[in-house]
Amino acid sequence: MTLLAKENDQGSLLRKRENKLEEANKEITEINEKTEDNCDNQLENEDINKNKQLVNRKWSLCSFTELPSWLQDNEYITFGHRPPIPCVKTCFQSIFRIHAETGNIWTHLVGCILFIGITVYFTYSQYVKIPDSKETWVFLAFFAGAILYLGFSTIFHTLYCHSQNVSKLFSKLDYCGISLLIMGSFVPWVYFGFYCHFVPKVLYLVMVCTLGISTMCVSLIDKFSTPTWRPFRAGVFMTFGLSAVFPALHYGFQEGWFNHISQKNLGWLVLMGVLYIAGALLYALRVPERWYPGKFDFWFHSHQIFHVFVVAAALVHFHGVTELATHRLSLGACDPPGLIKM
Ligand SMILES: [Zn+2]
Repeated sequence: MTLLAKENDQGSLLRKRENKLEEANKEITEINEKTEDNCDNQLENEDINKNKQLVNRKWSLCSFTELPSWLQDNEYITFGHRPPIPCVKTCFQSIFRIHAETGNIWTHLVGCILFIGITVYFTYSQYVKIPDSKETWVFLAFFAGAILYLGFSTIFHTLYCHSQNVSKLFSKLDYCGISLLIMGSFVPWVYFGFYCHFVPKVLYLVMVCTLGISTMCVSLIDKFSTPTWRPFRAGVFMTFGLSAVFPALHYGFQEGWFNHISQKNLGWLVLMGVLYIAGALLYALRVPERWYPGKFDFWFHSHQIFHVFVVAAALVHFHGVTELATHRLSLGACDPPGLIKM
C-alpha cells in the first residue's frame, strides 16, 4: 500500500510539473507572438510613415498606364494624373497644383462658394419679396441641393486619389449630390408653377422625391461608379432630369403655350435642360478628349465642361425660378382664397 501510495504521489508530482511546463511554454509562445505582432505593426507603421513622408515631400504627375486600376477612369486623359496620395492634408494641398483634377475641383469649388453667397444675399436682401416667410424654404431647398452637390463634388475630386475606399465613399456622395440638386431644382419650380393647384403640386413633389430617393439608392451600388457604367450613370441622371417634361407640359396646358409669361418661364426651364443634357452627353461620350487623346489632359476635358455646364444650368434655374416666383407672388393670394384647384 505504501509503495503504491508513494508511486501515486510521484505520478501526481510529475503531472503537476508537466502541467507547469506546458503553461510556461504557452506563456513563452504568447510573449513571442505578441513581440512578433508588435514588430510587424512597428514595421507596417514605419512603412506607412515612410510612404506619407515621401508623398508629403513630393509627388509627381503620372501617366494613365502608371495608375493603379482603381484610379484608371478615363484612358483618353493620358497624362497629368495624381498618384495615390494616402494623406488627406496632401490631397487638399494638391488643389493648388496643376493636374488632371484641378479644373474639376475649382469649377465646383467656385460654384459652391457662389451659391453660398447667393443664399446669404437672397435670404437677407429680399431679392424676391416673399410675403409669407415660410415660403422661403422652397428656395432654400434648391440652394441646399446646389451647395451640397457642389460641395460633395469638390471633396470627391480632391480626395479621389486618396485610396480606393475613400474614393468609393465620396463618389457615392457625389452621385447622391446630383440627385439632391435635381430634387431641389424641382421644388421651387413646381411650388410656384402650380401655386394654386394643390393636387398636381403635391403629386409632382412626391414624384420628384420618389425618383430622387430611387436614384440615390441606385448610386449606392458599388459598380455604379465604375468606368463601364458611365453611360448608364449619365442615362439615370438624364432620365431623372427629363422627368421635368411632365410638369412642364402640364404647366404649358394650364397657363397657355402662347402667353408671354409661360413662354418666358418655360424658356428658362428648356435652357436649363439643354445645358444639363449637353453636359451629360459630353460626360458620357468623353468628348473632346476621345477625339484628341492626350490633348485635353489638364484643361477642357469632358468632365470639366460638364461641371461648368452644371453650374451654368443651376444659375439659369435660379434666375428662372426667381422670375416665376416674382410673377406668381405679384398676382396675390389664390383666387378665391383657400380654393384648392385640381
Ligand atoms: Zn465631377
